[in-house]
Amino acid sequence: MTDCCIIGGGIIGLSIARELATRGLSVRLLSRDRERDTASWAAAGIFPPIARVPDGSAHEALTTWSDSLHRQWADELLEETGIDNGLRACGGLHLGATEKAIACLRDEAIEWKKKGVACDLLDAAGVRDCEPAFKTAVEQGAIAGGYLLPDEMQIRPPRHLQALLQSCRLRGVQIEFDAVVNRLDVQGDRIHGVVIQGGSPAGDPSRGKTVHAGCYCLAAGAWSGDLAKTLGLQIETRPIRGQIALLRLPQQILSRVVNLGLEYFVPRSDGRLLIGSTIEDVGFDCSTTHQAIDRLMAFAHLLLGPLSEAILEQTWAGLRPGSTDGLPLMGRAPACANAYLASGHFRAGLHQSTGSAVLLADLITGQPPSIDPAPFEPSRSMHTPVAGAAPPKDSIDAYLARAALEVLRPV
Ligand SMILES: Cc1cc2nc3c(=O)[nH]c(=O)nc-3n(C[C@H](O)[C@H](O)[C@H](O)COP(=O)(O)OP(=O)(O)OC[C@H]3O[C@@H](n4cnc5c(N)ncnc54)[C@H](O)[C@@H]3O)c2cc1C
Repeated sequence: MTDCCIIGGGIIGLSIARELATRGLSVRLLSRDRERDTASWAAAGIFPPIARVPDGSAHEALTTWSDSLHRQWADELLEETGIDNGLRACGGLHLGATEKAIACLRDEAIEWKKKGVACDLLDAAGVRDCEPAFKTAVEQGAIAGGYLLPDEMQIRPPRHLQALLQSCRLRGVQIEFDAVVNRLDVQGDRIHGVVIQGGSPAGDPSRGKTVHAGCYCLAAGAWSGDLAKTLGLQIETRPIRGQIALLRLPQQILSRVVNLGLEYFVPRSDGRLLIGSTIEDVGFDCSTTHQAIDRLMAFAHLLLGPLSEAILEQTWAGLRPGSTDGLPLMGRAPACANAYLASGHFRAGLHQSTGSAVLLADLITGQPPSIDPAPFEPSRSMHTPVAGAAPPKDSIDAYLARAALEVLRPV
């Protein structure tokens, strides 16, 4: 019998599969969608710099640890699969258009410095010197200043997923796409099997049947909440849509990730320029909208001019799996001895994927975990939030509140 069955073929499921297989476990991964249709593929791939002076928060501990693992994984994946996942420290510019925004950015810069992160405040001329493509926007007053984080990094999510898929296969992971898990068959305090519909490769006798394994890990992104109910867990992995537009330019005009409010540019080394994003609470609707793409294009034109040689190559949307307190839900389901959960990574799932994979593999194999798993316990979501209290900083509600203000800001 397979040691572990993973439900979900996004970044979280694939990373856990790779880590478990590396430790010698037999792994079967069931995924409803091909990688192109996951939030993981849709992500921008921005990795903010990590703190040198830790603040002791669980979010930061997971991100810092994941960040260092990413460097190691990128090298290993390149060596194993020949795929360069594009992980590089390109730096990040954070810009403001108004005096009020600049005052906020100054406060943010102080926070970065307190964390021991390199951060240089820039006036408008400094921004222009850093990224000459913003010359006109600076002259027209669309950029008033900002700060530079030289250690901000980027990764190319589609390439990273491709590399992970290949690495998993090389390690013997059995991957089945188009396999929809309809139900978890719980008997007593254990999952007896998962009931699937579909599944590749064609001819697999398990089609439409029950898949059995020693243990199970639910990593189904925004869809985890529903499946987790059969495990007695009332968790919320609310889908929060993000839309992106991808331009192809004759040659790259930016060298750094650039953020202004909730919108950003991520320049790729092959001349492509990714423009993101939106934060939308619209349920399980993964379509793009004209309004959002027009807004992203208006943002690009405001800061970069007419871009007459640019081709709008692709647009897409993905559903970020949220959690009510901004921390992912990871660990064993309290009422089920052989069920684990890894979801709710919201805006940081790419960045936190490596540490999440190692943590889950530690818990599943009974190794001492490398970071404290307690703050991520899935059962904590059963606690009711305090009425009237401000939402936690990285939570869905905090971002939705910011996004609502951003939509009112003219581009
Ligand atoms: C526009 C956008 C920009 C982002 N930018 C960044 C960024 O810059 N940095 C960063 O770190 N993060 C970013 N994120 C967040 C990141 O993408 C997510 O946190 C992460 O991808 C979540 O991964 P996941 O594996 O949990 O979910 P997903 O990638 O959605 O994968 C879920 C998987 O579960 C499968 N599944 C669901 N239901 C079932 C079922 N019933 N049966 C079988 N399989 C099922 C799906 O098919 C899929 O394979 C961004 C997200 C978006 C949308």
